[in-house]
Amino acid sequence: MTEETEQTEERLFKDLGLSPQIQQAIDEIGFEKPSPIQAEAIPELLAGHDVIGQAQTGTGKTAAFGLPMLQYLDPSNDEVQAIVLTPTRELCIQVTQALRSYAEHLDIEIVAVFGGAPIRSQQAQLRSGAHVVVATVGRMKDLISRRSLVLTAARFVVLDEADEMLDLGFIEDVERILRMCPSGRQTALFSATMPPPIKRLADTFMYDPVTISITPKTLTVDAIEQAYVEVPGKAKVDKLVDVVKAEDPEQAILFCRTKIGATRLERDLKNRGLDVKALHGDLSQGVRDGVMLAFKNHRCRLLVATDIAARGLDVDHVTHVINYDIPNSSETYVHRIGRTGRAGRTGRAITFVTPDQMRDLEQIKSDVKASIAEWEKPEDRIEHARPPRRKRRGEKPAPLDDQPAVLVEEVEDVDEVVEVPLTEEPEAAIPETPDGAVKLFINRGSRSDITEEDLRWALKEGAVLEDGQVADVRVLERFSFVEVDGDVAERTVEFLDGSRLKGSAIRVEIARS
Ligand code: AMP
Repeated sequence: MTEETEQTEERLFKDLGLSPQIQQAIDEIGFEKPSPIQAEAIPELLAGHDVIGQAQTGTGKTAAFGLPMLQYLDPSNDEVQAIVLTPTRELCIQVTQALRSYAEHLDIEIVAVFGGAPIRSQQAQLRSGAHVVVATVGRMKDLISRRSLVLTAARFVVLDEADEMLDLGFIEDVERILRMCPSGRQTALFSATMPPPIKRLADTFMYDPVTISITPKTLTVDAIEQAYVEVPGKAKVDKLVDVVKAEDPEQAILFCRTKIGATRLERDLKNRGLDVKALHGDLSQGVRDGVMLAFKNHRCRLLVATDIAARGLDVDHVTHVINYDIPNSSETYVHRIGRTGRAGRTGRAITFVTPDQMRDLEQIKSDVKASIAEWEKPEDRIEHARPPRRKRRGEKPAPLDDQPAVLVEEVEDVDEVVEVPLTEEPEAAIPETPDGAVKLFINRGSRSDITEEDLRWALKEGAVLEDGQVADVRVLERFSFVEVDGDVAERTVEFLDGSRLKGSAIRVEIARS
């Protein structure tokens, strides 16, 4: 253990200088102690410093900037006082949900604005007041040009996943937006990697920033079994099919370096009879959403993805990451394989290398300080023969820095593993009422202090539904039912399941009977 983590382990949330209302929300959510990035960044941000956080999703970075941001806000001032810029709508929604749960006991309005949803309802939400706006870059620009959003009072600015904004070509727009914010603002920039344009942006737009770097390997790599497959370029697809069949993953992400490579691999795997979907930047936002949803909902087992496209994907039951193309840096390697082995589960990462890439692999091995042995079929493995178990519904994540300790439990739970054939299981039809609505079940009701108004609010704010898309809301004692339009039912589940309402997480699912 490094000196840094020993030091941060001693810190508790109550030592960080957060207000009682924020502390109460953290207690109710169940965070026991701050993650390393939180322990480092929260005091700096509370002290008014600019912060560069080099940390990826999964490190607790949202609370690291979110908690001090909420504490900075003045609820009695109706102006937009803080903005969070995100590269994708998935991240925008995820951040908004997290911030709302942290703001549970504050009188703070947090509005999400992102592309692909009606701009009018977002304009209306802004008109009725927003202390914080969480936005994708394009939609924020659009709302500014329509004069629905002014940033003259936005003195707390967060750039989340800045490197992805760069990759997606948004950096100039980000700079334009930064120029519209007051010069005396406080800026926090989070990025998994720090390529030169991001460093330049920090030099130009930040004031004497404190840099906090959290190496993701302390969080993830220990829990991941890593192997490599040496194979000539021409034989890669066939070898991949062998590996996938032998490993029989519950869900796997297959990484390619380029969009063209991803498209080609998807086609080649489909031609060999595998059930696979691809996620890359050439697809429309609608198609990307559909693919992500299918993967998150377990309707697709294999996902071919490029690094950029996979960033917004926060799925915690990926059992395998396969680097079909070796990543071009050790940072990317760690970033990719961090998609598996989430929340204390074991995962496997298998990297394909052509003979002339063996040197790149050696570099990764030495940077990551992990043993990456040659891949063997699962039945030939002596020590690591147990597959990861399936996720239990409603399971709470372990505290972030305790994750590797949970490994012991993994080994004992092997009986739970269900064998799933490689072809897709037929999907059960979603039951609709005669007027085309779909009934959703929510696991909380009046006994948990939930009212019809709360649910209508959650449907509108959390799942971005219009009033007309909600047919019925019924709150019973221990659970509730809502009926929503058939074509937004899956999205509603996706957006609301696991989100927090009145202090605790709710489960939302399609009512099957
Ligand atoms: P993030 O990196 O912000 O996307 O957070 C990753 C996950 O860690 C989210 O599900 C958070 O709710 C959770 N999380 C954040 N901070 C903590 C903490 N201090 N203890 C336990 N879980 C946390």
